[in-house]
Amino acid sequence: MSSKIAEAINEALSNGYQIHPDALILLEAVKEKVSLIDLVIKTIEMKRKSGDQQLLLLKKDFEEMLPEHLKEHEEVKIDEIEPEIEIVKDVSEKISPSEELNGLKNLFESRFNKLYSIVKERPDSHQIQKIESIAKGNGLSYKVAGLVLDKKIKRTHIELTIDDKSGKATIFVKDQSVMKQAMSLSLDQLVVVDLESTKKGVLFAKSIYSPDIPDRSPNLSKKIVYAIFTSDLHIGSKTFLYEAFERFVLWLTQHGREDFIVKRIKYLIIGGDVVDGIGVYPDQEDDLEELNIYQQYVRAAQLLNKIPKSIQIFIIPGNHDPARQALPQPAIPKKYAEPLYKLENVRILGNPSQIRLHGVNILIYHGRSLDDIVATIPNLTFSKPASAMKILLKARHLAPLYGGRTPIALEKEDHLVIEEVPDIFHAGHVHTLDIDRYKGTLLINSGTWQTQTKYQANMGVTPTPGLLPIVNLATLDVLVKDFTKYI
Ligand code: FE
Ligand code: ZN
Repeated sequence: MSSKIAEAINEALSNGYQIHPDALILLEAVKEKVSLIDLVIKTIEMKRKSGDQQLLLLKKDFEEMLPEHLKEHEEVKIDEIEPEIEIVKDVSEKISPSEELNGLKNLFESRFNKLYSIVKERPDSHQIQKIESIAKGNGLSYKVAGLVLDKKIKRTHIELTIDDKSGKATIFVKDQSVMKQAMSLSLDQLVVVDLESTKKGVLFAKSIYSPDIPDRSPNLSKKIVYAIFTSDLHIGSKTFLYEAFERFVLWLTQHGREDFIVKRIKYLIIGGDVVDGIGVYPDQEDDLEELNIYQQYVRAAQLLNKIPKSIQIFIIPGNHDPARQALPQPAIPKKYAEPLYKLENVRILGNPSQIRLHGVNILIYHGRSLDDIVATIPNLTFSKPASAMKILLKARHLAPLYGGRTPIALEKEDHLVIEEVPDIFHAGHVHTLDIDRYKGTLLINSGTWQTQTKYQANMGVTPTPGLLPIVNLATLDVLVKDFTKYI
């Protein structure tokens, strides 16, 4: 519960009143627009004046006291809130792998140029010099920018080797605070280093920074409208939580139909691994209930068909879906997912994709590279995937490490650079719900609808299935609903 809601409850309690749960949902929806404490005080006054003896504050009591423009929201029927959708970037439309021998060189050149143009926005960037211009042993300072070729973490220091096309440099990092920065760099990301070319002939790092995102206020919707973020359904697996998903559907269509929030849910975003696929990991057949990939999508479409058509659904592929595995991934091909393509409210996009809903910029990415980030950067765990997502935002790249577990296609252009700063960064893959904020961006790792498989048990992954994050696009507040229990 947010502190504003807690304060409102306390205010009511201190006056001898309680707040009805339905009213709390209303307060949650308007808490950024009005002072809840004032609203509670005014509502109690009104109730007392009218001679109402009931010591319970109801939704309708608050509604009477809400300012006129917020009341209007209350009267608006969800069907009357027109969807506002813009596809900012669908990587599916851009894919064209480089067939030349120097594909990797092309990809890295594109990466360097795109990330360099991001760091060029910073006020001190005119000082950046080429690595080839560094003179050894002159005691002077330099600022350079390059891709991290190598990072050796030693007991007392870190050795960082970077490359900027003009040359390579190995830089020593010894200061505690700078070591911390260096530690959280991914290989193959761009970094800017302020260094001293010491008289003793070594390059010594004075400060280090990543391209990063600026600290700012996110774009918000002018209307109270909600988007649901989910991923990793793994339909077709024996461990897919069919009942929990049914409960979610029933909440949308029956139990919750009159709910303030349900009426305003307009979007469902699915961040990949819709089905469990076949042959994704050794002996997967033992874990499958449906061995036919086409039938897995038939089942997926049957389930998603139950979701009201007033909700727009966006789907990107994950590593279990039968799209090209190398990133960026084109949309799930029609030949497999035809039943999904037939649903009028479903849009099938590539991985990654970036969309704008009511002005809110949303980056959707399955999250395979989180495996590499957690494996190669100290102090990260699969139980806190949003911390690994932060590293990607800082690096302004969705999968910096080349040659790790994440296959990366040799595209002519690096489509995995995060060019537009997202207001919401949504990933999945890790099967652990985690929500965090970083410099104005809301980070969501949306969990799963699958219980732990044997494979995950061996990998030490403890999933958090059936938890659904729901975001108010007018405030970016997140409400998590648990569908593992009866509602
Ligand atoms: Fe998954
Ligand atoms: Zn996955």
